[in-house]
Amino acid sequence: MVGRDWAICLRTTDYSETSQVVTLFTRETGKFGALAKGARRAKSAFDGPIEIFSCGQIQFYPKFSGGLATLTEFLQEPRFVRLRRHLYAMDCALFAAELLDSLTQPYDPHPSLYGVFSTFLDDVQETTDTKKSLALLIVFQLSLLAEVGSRPILNQCVNCRKPYKQSRRGAFFSSQANGLVCPDCEPAFVGRIRMAPDVAACFADLQQLTHAEEATLRDMEQILIGHFTEMLHRRPKMASHFQK
Ligand SMILES: [Zn+2]
Repeated sequence: MVGRDWAICLRTTDYSETSQVVTLFTRETGKFGALAKGARRAKSAFDGPIEIFSCGQIQFYPKFSGGLATLTEFLQEPRFVRLRRHLYAMDCALFAAELLDSLTQPYDPHPSLYGVFSTFLDDVQETTDTKKSLALLIVFQLSLLAEVGSRPILNQCVNCRKPYKQSRRGAFFSSQANGLVCPDCEPAFVGRIRMAPDVAACFADLQQLTHAEEATLRDMEQILIGHFTEMLHRRPKMASHFQK
């Protein structure tokens, strides 16, 4: 049966002279791969070639049993075209798309994540400031984890449940325990990473991101990259663009 949905393109590969294989994240159907036959022709049912962050209404024949769906129509809207104006904003968007693709399963619907992702793309394309872009990326990454059921606990110790209190002793992040570990509990956690007091404070209360130093945001991003690397058992490709 033909499906209709709203979609954002997460990835494209040329399939032949004229066709493309695309990964789409849709509002109601979740993520899936699809063959867009003839998409690279000047005239097609897809409003021209499909690019990463192409967005609009689609018609498709799903393939729930695996393999590629067939895309029959893509009414593209120029919603995220301004991403291309700023390299750093584009890098943030590409990183978000890669993580979204890696952490979701085909045909697993996440309508609220679709909203979170499109709002993130809207916001980041309007941001020329590196610090603000990075803060948006951090908030998106934490929302993504929450949406896929892996929200890290960051406002209290995962072990003893003591609420995080700012102190010179700082705190630790444990990927294995999925959250913050206080200085009293840290020796029991292998692979823990020390967080500076300002980093831990921002994680515990995201409101503080607005006033955080860029160095603090960069440290937070390193912790998140480490966490995604543990979760995926590989380093995300876009991580190299966010190294210190
Ligand atoms: Zn503790």
